[in-house]
Amino acid sequence: MKPETSAIHALNLVKSATGDVTMPISLSTTFLRDETGGYPGGHMYSRVSNPNRSALENVITALEFGADTCAFSSGNTAGMSIFQALKPGSHIIAPDDMYWGFKKQLQSIFAATLTFDFIDLTDLSVLTSYIKANTVMIWAETPSNPLLKITDIEALAKICKANNLIFACDSTFASPILQNPILLGADIVMHSTTKYIGGHSDVLGGSLTTAHQNEFWEKIRNVQQIGGAVPSPFDCFLLLRSIKTLAYRMKGHCENAMILAKHLEKHPKIDAVYYPGLASHPQHEIAKKQMKDFGGMLSILVKGDASAARKVVNSVKIFAQATSLGGVESLIEHRASVEGPDTKTPQNLIRVSVGLEHIDDLIADLEQALAHI
Ligand SMILES: *Cc1c(COP(=O)(O)O)cnc(C)c1O
Repeated sequence: MKPETSAIHALNLVKSATGDVTMPISLSTTFLRDETGGYPGGHMYSRVSNPNRSALENVITALEFGADTCAFSSGNTAGMSIFQALKPGSHIIAPDDMYWGFKKQLQSIFAATLTFDFIDLTDLSVLTSYIKANTVMIWAETPSNPLLKITDIEALAKICKANNLIFACDSTFASPILQNPILLGADIVMHSTTKYIGGHSDVLGGSLTTAHQNEFWEKIRNVQQIGGAVPSPFDCFLLLRSIKTLAYRMKGHCENAMILAKHLEKHPKIDAVYYPGLASHPQHEIAKKQMKDFGGMLSILVKGDASAARKVVNSVKIFAQATSLGGVESLIEHRASVEGPDTKTPQNLIRVSVGLEHIDDLIADLEQALAHI
């Protein structure tokens, strides 16, 4: 099945007595056993599994061409479950601009149990010099947040295979529609389903999809089931509802973002536009090779300092000044002040999540906001 079809049908809808065409929300926390002690409905207790969660996991597995998926209560708990599943003493290599929430997790929660190096994964030539005897995993994030850097997934997968390392990829910015890291050799794909998969800024969630059923995946399942960072049946219902339109929403996000990026690239008040779809993007050729389209996220550097950037985000009328991304409504933010005082994000950087409004209205809104600097 093509993604447009599996997004709608891969949940494996079970026939109900009432003939529901969409999946009802199953709120029961516990499920009936039969005389032999088994669970004829396939579920025992809703921390372990639930019909709505299983259906969501089926759809994401199909969209990512994986073997299995775990859905979590947030993107952060999805990533954290990987770190929790690693043996204490393990070493991880992660990108220097890793999603700041994960960087914070490693530096605070896992500082005593794991070691890590943050390096620039757009230059794979130096990577092997960071691999140590206790290195177990390389974590990539592509496109990256907020600089939209692109990592060559296929090339990185080869290095991981050759060195017997787990390759996990945060593919949130791409969504399962634009990029499938497992098809390029990744072992685990991570999404913050809060973003494009949810798509309406009204549900928090995360997912991990594995390429293989193996021992490490069993550990992750165990962390999920024993740890209990699971999404509610209602969260799963919302995500299943949203995912049906994901492919079509992504078309709109990509189309709008490309027009906006090209428009802003020529703007006299802007120093740089980071968008992987622009020929000027340093990894544009890699993006073309591994992505079906370039996504709805872009960052700009305005001429001036933090105060110029803040003037712009304070002056928009259609864009909402808020963090997060992937929703139908366009969002804009001064990223450095979201990340805090120790951020390396340039002070004049504005991150834009291009929504599904008409592009003419978005351009007009940014034009009037840029006129304030
Ligand atoms: C938002 C985000 C996360 C974290 O997900 P939450 O759902 O907010 O916990 C992780 N990685 C990327 C790239 C993100 O944008």
